[in-house]
Amino acid sequence: FPSRLPDVGTTIFTVMSALAVEHGAVNLGQGFPDFSCDAALTGAVTQAMQAGHNQYPPMAGVHALREVVSRKTEALYGRHYDVDAEVTITAGATQAILTAILACVHPGDEVIVLDPCYDSYLPSIALAGGVAVHVPLTPASFRPDVGKIAAAITPRTRLLIVNTPHNPSASVWTAEDMRALQEVLAPTRVLLLSDEVYEHMVYDGGQHQSSARFPGLAERAFVVSSFGKTLHVTGWKVGSVCAPAALTAEFRKVHQFNVFSVNTPMQHGIAAYMADPASYDGLSAFYQAKRDLFREGLAGSRLKLLPSSGSFFQCVDISAVSDLPDAEFCQWLTREIGVAAIPLSAFYADGFDQHVVRFCYAKRDETLREALARLRKL
Ligand code: PMP
Ligand code: GLN
Repeated sequence: FPSRLPDVGTTIFTVMSALAVEHGAVNLGQGFPDFSCDAALTGAVTQAMQAGHNQYPPMAGVHALREVVSRKTEALYGRHYDVDAEVTITAGATQAILTAILACVHPGDEVIVLDPCYDSYLPSIALAGGVAVHVPLTPASFRPDVGKIAAAITPRTRLLIVNTPHNPSASVWTAEDMRALQEVLAPTRVLLLSDEVYEHMVYDGGQHQSSARFPGLAERAFVVSSFGKTLHVTGWKVGSVCAPAALTAEFRKVHQFNVFSVNTPMQHGIAAYMADPASYDGLSAFYQAKRDLFREGLAGSRLKLLPSSGSFFQCVDISAVSDLPDAEFCQWLTREIGVAAIPLSAFYADGFDQHVVRFCYAKRDETLREALARLRKL
């Protein structure tokens, strides 16, 4: 039968992780920590299982976890989301993104994406029958150009997807960027999908600018978070969406037939653990130290460091090291140097060579040191 996603193969993250295993490479490709989460967190989940929290939870999520999300969002970003009507627990941010898109995008609707973008956005739009409209982030800095976003809006634009801190570029939106976007969207009915999975990883004293902070954005936004990133448990696949009641109602119509609900003991465990804000408070300092270790290690090399202001990614320009296209360079780097990375071209619809590759520094210091020793051979 004709494929629903004819242009889609296996994701670059799966491909590069498999290649890293095959060649015994240090895997700085796929974004996941190589260290354990806090034992208190696994303890809280074990306790939840032993206490009998093993059957279906409420469709919208365990109440205690929705309370944690609501309280945290209000404390950090100043907007109150009603626990019953405006917060939903999802199977990771990936399901939240697909579900939000399926809930609001009709066939033929336009969805604005900012290139480069996370690899699940375009297939999710395609599954909804939407038409992706591409607006580039400003080359090199990867900063948003709100004027270009404004110019891309048409009467058929249903949704805009933004992501800050940004994967893959590690750039972050400023309050001025958000205010400018708020102004541009004010006269429109464009909805916003705000992917904020790296909300607790912003460096050098910067502040995460959640869409929840800006009333004109929040009133039209699905604000997406991921506990996998925040708690170092990417394999647990638990996330959340905050959105005004009318948007949440439509989101849940799809969610209930997409997964219905998300695994119960993880939700109870995370809720118990995150009752203490210390569970996420120190994350920026923790990852900033890793970023600095990695950047200092590459400082004298011919890999040109781009800024890393948030997320746990470091992009480098490979022009001085190799003429290979970035995708081929990543294969070569994995096989010959023993370090896996992700080519930036994988985050563009047309996949053209960017001569930039992305490393993930969510790794133990000794892993980073081993990778640096290998990369210094370049
Ligand atoms: N959005 C972005 C920008 C991401 O980087 C990721 C994970 N790498 C996701 C969404 C998906 O998050 P989750 O693992 O919670 O599904
Ligand atoms: N989000 C992770 C990354 O960007 C990978 C997630 C996945 O493997 N799908 O590396």
